[in-house]
This record gives sequence, C-alpha cells and structure tokens, in this order.
Amino acid sequence: MILPELEELYHQPLFNLISQSRGVHLRHWHGEDVQRCSLLSIKTGGCSEDCAYCAQSSHHSTGVEREELLSMEKVLTAARRARSQGATRFCMGAAWRGVREGSEKFQRVLEIVREVSRLGMEVCVTLGEIGPAEAHKLRAAGVTAYNHNIDTSPEFYREIVSTHTFQNRLDTIAAVQQSGMAVCCGGIIGMGESETDRLRMLEVLSNFDPPPESVPINCLMAMPGTPLADQPPVDIFELVRLIAVTRIALPKARVRLAAGRTRLSREGQALCFFAGANSIFYGDKLLTAKNPAADVDVALLRDLGLRHSGLTAP
Ligand code: SAM
Ligand code: SF4
Repeated sequence: MILPELEELYHQPLFNLISQSRGVHLRHWHGEDVQRCSLLSIKTGGCSEDCAYCAQSSHHSTGVEREELLSMEKVLTAARRARSQGATRFCMGAAWRGVREGSEKFQRVLEIVREVSRLGMEVCVTLGEIGPAEAHKLRAAGVTAYNHNIDTSPEFYREIVSTHTFQNRLDTIAAVQQSGMAVCCGGIIGMGESETDRLRMLEVLSNFDPPPESVPINCLMAMPGTPLADQPPVDIFELVRLIAVTRIALPKARVRLAAGRTRLSREGQALCFFAGANSIFYGDKLLTAKNPAADVDVALLRDLGLRHSGLTAP
C-alpha cells in the first residue's frame, strides 16, 4: 500500500477503522488464536550501536551490564521453561551490531539454534546485521524466522541511530528473504516520531516481497539513561489505530503486541486484539525490560475467550 491510502485508513473515525480491520482479520485468520512467543536475551549489553531507545547500547549509561553469550545449558533451560508455560515460539536476541560467518560466536549461536530447534517450538533469532552466508547457515541450523526491525520511517531512523543506516537494515532483511527464512519485522512507536513516520514505516513493510510473516509493534519502554528516557507514553487509541491499519495493510502477518504491554490496561489490550493483534511476547521478561507475568496473560486470554495456540495463517 502507499502512504496516502494508509493515511486515509488511519484517520477514519476509530470504530469505522476497527470494523474494517476486524473484517480483514476474519477473512484471513480462522478462529481467535493468539500466538505466544517467549524472548531470551542470549547476549546482553555492551552493544557498539547507538540506538537512542536501547538500554543495551554502550553509548548510554543505563546500568545494564555487558554480559557474555549465555551457555548452551542456560539457553536450553530457558527454552524448556518457555515451552512448559505454553510458548510456541522461542526468540533469542543478541546485543551486538551483527555476526559474521567464521567467527566463534556465530558457531556457538548455530550450535544453540540446532539444540533449541529440537524442542519443537518455532525458533526465531535477532542477531543484528547478517549477510546471505549467515542467513543460509542459520536457516540450515533450524531458524524459522529472523527478526530485524526497521523500527520507524526511513526519514526518522537517522534521528535515532547514527552508527548504521536504514539501508543496512533493508540489506539484512533482503538476505533473510533470499535464504527462505521468514522475516519478522516491525517497529517502535513513542520515540517522538510523527503519525506520518509511523505510516511510512507501514508503507515500507507492506511493500516487502514477500511481506513479513510477523510484525511486532513495540511501544517505547522509556529506559532511564537513554536519550529517550523522558518520552511520554503512547496514547492507547493511537496504538489501536496503528494495529488496525497494520492488520489491513498486512492481512496475513502475525501482528504482535510487543514491548510496552505493562503500561496497557486489560481493556486497552482487548481493543488491540479486536483491532487485529494476534501475537504477544509471553513470559515476565523481554530482552531487558519487564513484561506482564505469564499467568496474568493466560488469565486475560481466557477471559476474552481467545485461544492461545501457535497456528499460522492459512
Ligand atoms: N541488536 C539486534 C538488533 O538491533 O536488531 C537485536 C536486539 S534489539 C534489542 C531488538 C529490538 O528490540 C529492536 O529493534 C527494537 O525494536 C526493540 N527494542 C529495544 N529496546 C526497546 C525499547 N526500549 N522499547 C521498545 N522496543 C525496544
Ligand atoms: Fe544494539 Fe540492537 Fe540495542 Fe541497537 S537495538 S543498541 S543494535 S542491541
């Protein structure tokens, strides 16, 4: 879709917009299942990049300590726990700019992926910048989806990151697409960007070929010590509008209500699901930020009568 179409959708009266997105949702998704993905930081802190929102950047003093890559044992323990709590997808994130084939850390990540993929969950990794060689090896090791967010519009991106470019992000995504891994790609709202920036981000995502398999919509978790520490929270109706337009622009994508759910009420989250969100991060921790406790989420999905499986789009 192109920007003027997205703007027209976005600025309708809210209930018209939600009715339309609900219609699209029902045509493309059978039932009311909400996918639950667990996230584990396998390498935390000390990142060379200067992403203004991120507590793991070495450019900001946030109190997040630099840690080494987790051992196989620790990762497997976390993955088994996630599976026993009902997660159907396990995503592992690393705080570094990227990885290259031939490095020791890449070999260790491949070994971790091979073991985790035996547990029967979908395996997702977010390792920053990679090229075609790395993408092929990750796929062969058992990765089903690679997360690499574009985070915002191309225009606003340079205001929040200076150590790499929007084009670098697109190049990684192209390498992932060519390898045959699914692309998980979305962004963050609440960083000071305009509504046009948010819709430009959706314009870029909706023109991916193939379209992303999942689209995380994060609300900024304003982390103390980062340049964005004082950003005000996102208005719930702006979030609901963006989710609804995402559902219409990317009908077959899992739209993931990602970071920032701790600030949303149960009613606010219910509205997000009704507008088209059908995936959540699950488990009490994101990479370094807080997330609602697993039992609270299970109760919410149960109260709404939403099934929580790992079914994919037909
Ligand atoms: N280093 C890799 C990268 O940048 O792609 C992977 C890890 S990075 C932490 C993964 C994603 O987490 C970012 O692209 C961003 O969308 C999200 N994220 C990080 N910090 C956040 C925050 N404070 N609030 C909301 N989302 C955040
Ligand atoms: Fe590093 Fe990723 Fe955080 Fe940017 S978002 S500072 S690349 S960990």
